[in-house]
Amino acid sequence: MSHPNLKLPPLKQFIDGEWVDSASERTMETIDPATGKAFAQVSAGDAEDVDRAVKSARLAVEHGPWTKVPPAARSRVLNRIADLIEARGEELATLESVDNGKPVTAARMADIPSSAGVFRYMAGWAMRMEGEQIPLANRPQGQFLAYTQRAPIGVVGQIVPWNFPLLMAAWKVAPALAFGCASILKPAEQTPLTAAALVQIAQEAGVPAGQLNLIQGLGHVVGAALVGHNEVNKIAFTGSTEVGKTIVRSGADTLKRISLELGGKSPTIVLADADIDAAVAGAAHAIFFNQGQICTAGSRLYVHESIYDKFIDRLATVAAALKTGPGLDPTTQIGPLVSEEQLRRVAGYVEIGKKEGAGVAVGGDAVGGPGYFYRPTILTHVNQKMRVVQEEIFGPVLVATRFKEIDEVVAMANDSVYGLAASVWTRDVSKAHAVARALHAGTVWVNCHHVMDPAMPFGGYKQSGWGREMGAAAYEMYTESKSVCIQL
Ligand code: NAP
Ligand code: MG
Repeated sequence: MSHPNLKLPPLKQFIDGEWVDSASERTMETIDPATGKAFAQVSAGDAEDVDRAVKSARLAVEHGPWTKVPPAARSRVLNRIADLIEARGEELATLESVDNGKPVTAARMADIPSSAGVFRYMAGWAMRMEGEQIPLANRPQGQFLAYTQRAPIGVVGQIVPWNFPLLMAAWKVAPALAFGCASILKPAEQTPLTAAALVQIAQEAGVPAGQLNLIQGLGHVVGAALVGHNEVNKIAFTGSTEVGKTIVRSGADTLKRISLELGGKSPTIVLADADIDAAVAGAAHAIFFNQGQICTAGSRLYVHESIYDKFIDRLATVAAALKTGPGLDPTTQIGPLVSEEQLRRVAGYVEIGKKEGAGVAVGGDAVGGPGYFYRPTILTHVNQKMRVVQEEIFGPVLVATRFKEIDEVVAMANDSVYGLAASVWTRDVSKAHAVARALHAGTVWVNCHHVMDPAMPFGGYKQSGWGREMGAAAYEMYTESKSVCIQL
């Protein structure tokens, strides 16, 4: 065990308000990506555990105390969860760093406060499950009273990835609880720790038994069992486009509701008039934040030809100066990738890029030694047909291209199966609006990147997903609408 002093949450299943071993009593290892060593054993569930959790969730969502308490009481519990996340912030940031590899400084600044923020925001929505009174169009006025009512969608299976383990769990669990759903959370097998801590926090805050269950284990076992289960009303998934498609196919048998937050290949577009200092820093943040393992990574850079050479020089200098090291070292800016598999995938893509004829402006190889470190990398001399330009790498690898005309760069930006996000860097407000309008992306940032907020709907065009999370969109996602029509 490489971290004898780490304070671990229970690494079991949480079903019907109790921490239990899985029915099979199997376990899986969790690995510290900075060393490549296993440091904990986690219970690994299967379909039997999923079934027990679904039964408990079903009871909770139909008859549990959460269905009866005033909405303000639910709201207070969500606020208490936010308080407890903040109070345990340092411990959670450390867990996240050891489990995922990310710099603890980044977890402290981003993952932890953003997770608390989602619960605080959704605490407000718990008191806003409003319907509408509807004047009927083809009936005499005054003879009917018609209104819509909103009901929780029911039992939800929530499957999350490893890149922001706590935050992605918060994005799922907070709206589910706010809108009265009962959740079965399935963390990624690589990062089981903070989801367990969150469940512990929710229990302490007063979430009743069955309302939030946790099943740790493998995606093709636990995740697939959730997707196939008759009594699960909805799957909310964040992860790869490939697994998203599998979920759609197997969810079709029960026609359960499915929402998907999938991959991306988001463009960072720098116009000729951009503030260069801000754009260089912004482009670096867009691709290198979280070691590039972020769905909105600005992984395709398009720079106007008049400033291209200078821009790439400066960006390469910034990239080369980023300090790579273990996440727990407070001076680290780039931690290890999450796993050996991910390191191989990223390195494999850079080799493909080189074979396709790309040049390497900086980086282009692994750091070597123990741990899964890869150098921040910029590939140049690329074109739209190359795999490194079309496929999601999910690592610190940027592909850079020059452009002449705005129409041309918009066409290149939209030439992707993905449509998650984009950023535009310019001082010209008219161009900013015009480009934002023309891009096929669920989020467009101007003179910033990765700015997310629980009030702002988030999701993707095209193969980046189905539906929008956060903001008022979360209401649509976790409730059913019922029309009630009364003859007076
Ligand atoms: P992944 O392999 O799709 O895994 C995501 C989750 O799905 C994990 O919990 C995984 O479990 C589970 N899973 C795997 N196979 C499954 C199956 N057959 N049925 C049900 N669940 C299954 O994705 P990842 O590699 O962890 O994450 C990286 C990807 O997520 C990238 O493509 C990235 O763009 C995307 N992402 C998108 C967003 C967004 O909001 N749009 C945010 C973050 C990440 P195991 O861990 O056990 O495999
Ligand atoms: Mg791990």
